[in-house]
Amino acid sequence: MPSPDLETIQTMASIRLEQVSKRYPNGVRAVDDASLEIRDGEFLVLVGPSGCGKSTTLRMIAGLEEVTTGTIYIGDRLVNHVAAGQRDMAMVFQNYALYPHMTVRQNLSFGLRVRRLPRAEIRRRVNDAANLLGISPLLDRRPAELSGGQRQRVALGRALVRQPAAFLLDEPLSNLDARLRAEMRTELARLHQDLHTTTVYVTHDQVEAMTLGERIVVMHESRIQQVSTPLNIYHYPANRFVAEFIGSPPMNFVEGNVQDGKFISGNISYAVSPAASRGRRLLGFRPESLSLDASQPPLGEMIVDVIERMGHETLVYGNLDGHSIVARFGGDVTASVGRPLMLHLPASDWHVFSLDADQPRIAGGRTAAE
Ligand code: ADP
Repeated sequence: MPSPDLETIQTMASIRLEQVSKRYPNGVRAVDDASLEIRDGEFLVLVGPSGCGKSTTLRMIAGLEEVTTGTIYIGDRLVNHVAAGQRDMAMVFQNYALYPHMTVRQNLSFGLRVRRLPRAEIRRRVNDAANLLGISPLLDRRPAELSGGQRQRVALGRALVRQPAAFLLDEPLSNLDARLRAEMRTELARLHQDLHTTTVYVTHDQVEAMTLGERIVVMHESRIQQVSTPLNIYHYPANRFVAEFIGSPPMNFVEGNVQDGKFISGNISYAVSPAASRGRRLLGFRPESLSLDASQPPLGEMIVDVIERMGHETLVYGNLDGHSIVARFGGDVTASVGRPLMLHLPASDWHVFSLDADQPRIAGGRTAAE
């Protein structure tokens, strides 16, 4: 008898937040006026610095926190007053929360046994999930006999076997070391490609956000700053906060004046579009946008003070007309400490921001429609 795969029996769900705010009893406004539509089957990442309201948003979707004002829909169903257990969502936390006295198999099957699923169905779902996650050989072990990565897989498996309408993941990889984190990231992406289950993923790590998210929601100080695809966020950051938060090393900023289509600061005079209105401004450019190619528009001379060679690339830190900046070049770039480097910046790669981090970006060199 053919056994249906996990992927064929998933139910799916879109999730909609309308003007959702959360004020905790102690007065902290953790989420302010969040509106967001998470599409059926989408992998959406909430990213932002610690304390910006990501977990609170996720917990309101899960039903673990009540909204103070606003509405949440799952599909067409208003769920503001629907208990967490009735929302058909599986949440995975950073700290795994496995039952220590149970084997992996028991941990995976526990929720299904509570729901009184037929025994054969439980066995099938547990075996399918274990196969998918590569933990079949570990089914008889207890959590104490597993590595961190294996435990995290079991925690994911426990969500998988429930075949929920959506997965809600709160920093699920942050207890793992860097290598394992990268490995699990790829596995999560693969899993989502197989299952297409609506997934909301919370992280403070912009690399995780960029690599996993089909769309990314950047949050800062309780508010949504931008919702878009990773590349749109990278090339068209909504404001300086987003520009600085996404990308590593972060975007460089030089303060100066915009007048008559030029950005001027000390010896720097760089042509920007007339769309950049005059006034005190920041010129933003990414480390990888800087170039030594003399056919590109000149930006200015950087005096080099640190060179970090990583093989595939070189980070060069230095001083550009009184501003500390970093440039990212190829692995074999010629540079030496104390020497000047003439930097060029392609006409498509500049941004002009107001000084206030949350104010909308004023103009940019890239003109493709968002
Ligand atoms: P993030 O997940 O982005 O780190 P959180 O949603 O956990 O942010 O927290 C947002 C803000 O709400 C923070 O200022 C935090 O201290 C506060 N907060 C979180 N949980 C509670 C709570 N249960 N009671 C009071 N304040 C809280």
